[in-house]
Amino acid sequence: MKGIFGILIWILVAVLWITPVILGIYQARKKNRSAHWMWFGIHPFSGWIMYVILLVSKPLRVCPNCKEKLKINAKNCPYCEHTFEDYEPSVAPTKVRKKWVLPVIAGGAGLLVLVGMFFAVFQLVDGMFTNSEPYKIAMSAARENLTVQDQIGADFKKDGGISGQAKFSGAEGNAEMAVPIRGAKGTGVINIVAEEKGGKWVFTVLNLNHNGVFVDFLAK
Ligand SMILES: [Zn+2]
Repeated sequence: MKGIFGILIWILVAVLWITPVILGIYQARKKNRSAHWMWFGIHPFSGWIMYVILLVSKPLRVCPNCKEKLKINAKNCPYCEHTFEDYEPSVAPTKVRKKWVLPVIAGGAGLLVLVGMFFAVFQLVDGMFTNSEPYKIAMSAARENLTVQDQIGADFKKDGGISGQAKFSGAEGNAEMAVPIRGAKGTGVINIVAEEKGGKWVFTVLNLNHNGVFVDFLAK
């Protein structure tokens, strides 16, 4: 499950990174401006800035005679003296941009960032749990337990996000976790309540909830 979140975050980063470059190149082409500006997209943040600049910048028109880029309302070309009789519709690009487009794009980008941040925080918290000592102790206790091996399967894995709370500070701490697991034979939830004193974790609860039946790892 942690792997899936990692992949999701990478996809999200890729989307956030690539989207402004694609949109920017599209805007540049549409406005006869250089798409090379989007090399700024080498950094995702400047990619978005560059895209917005291209979005609000005025389009250029290309002189049909010497191919120089001119202001959209140029009456004649200062380079070759070519005179524009009138505005050729094909080189006077869309002045009518629909009013909802920009807010929708900005809203979409904002939403992507929020979703990305949510996943990042989620993974951070999950990583804090899975890297903690009580989690590791509980998982190896579960792996060694014969009932778990019989009902869940010895090769079980964490199946989804951990819920609970934990506090670690030096050699003191406490943790309360519910870890969903899935093995070849079934699923369950490992419950952990533990307290650290002088660098040693003492468990008050350490069991598996397997369809409402509790397997206590602390019972001797
Ligand atoms: Zn010209």
